[in-house]
Amino acid sequence: MRVIAIDGPAGSGKSTVARAVAQRLHLRYLDTGAMYRAVAFAVLRAGGDPSDPDLAARTAREIELDVGLDVVMVDGMDVTSDIREPDVNQAVSTVAANADVRRELVARQRRWAQTQGGGVLEGRDIGTVVFPDAELKIYLTADPAERARRRAAEAGDLNYEAVAADIARRDAIDTTRSADPLSEAEDATVVDTTGLTIEEVVDRIAGLLTTTSRSEGPV
Ligand code: C5P
Repeated sequence: MRVIAIDGPAGSGKSTVARAVAQRLHLRYLDTGAMYRAVAFAVLRAGGDPSDPDLAARTAREIELDVGLDVVMVDGMDVTSDIREPDVNQAVSTVAANADVRRELVARQRRWAQTQGGGVLEGRDIGTVVFPDAELKIYLTADPAERARRRAAEAGDLNYEAVAADIARRDAIDTTRSADPLSEAEDATVVDTTGLTIEEVVDRIAGLLTTTSRSEGPV
């Protein structure tokens, strides 16, 4: 099973890069952040409190979740744009800090990869927790101002300061939580995407794969 792990903070370029790497390698792609967002959305939709640990865990176990390349469905409903709304941005890192939620979603992510025969997975803990034996682990970074600029440009109706504050708040929760915090796997290759084009980043990752397979020795 061929698994490529791409981790990093918000706005580091993960989604765009992971999609492009998947396309180049003819692998499927999974945005695991969309899964945490979907659970946060489902809790909010039911009028629940995202910091209620039992409710969040139960929701993670019970929702029907379908994360496709372009469409995210929760219980048969298209929530692709709802999960990018400010209320979900606000709640998602709290939901993602819940160890029971993580256990359930990590199990779903592993099943997804097994069913597909591998894939490119992007998130915060793919190389450290979900697939510690991934063929290649990339940790993407970019300077915080650049990350906020990218996110603000994506979400046209949000101003730069609000986006920068949201990213800083989520980074703080994601890196300091006790359950599977965002961190670089020891054997991850760190790629700083500040000032690089998508193509340059994808080329660099593809180059690493060639080196990895060459260093495997004779067959
Ligand atoms: O990638 P994205 O910014 O959409 O992820 C939303 C949130 O989901 C992150 O801020 C983080 O709290 C959580 N997340 C996580 N583990 C992952 C992917 C996302 O905790 N593997």
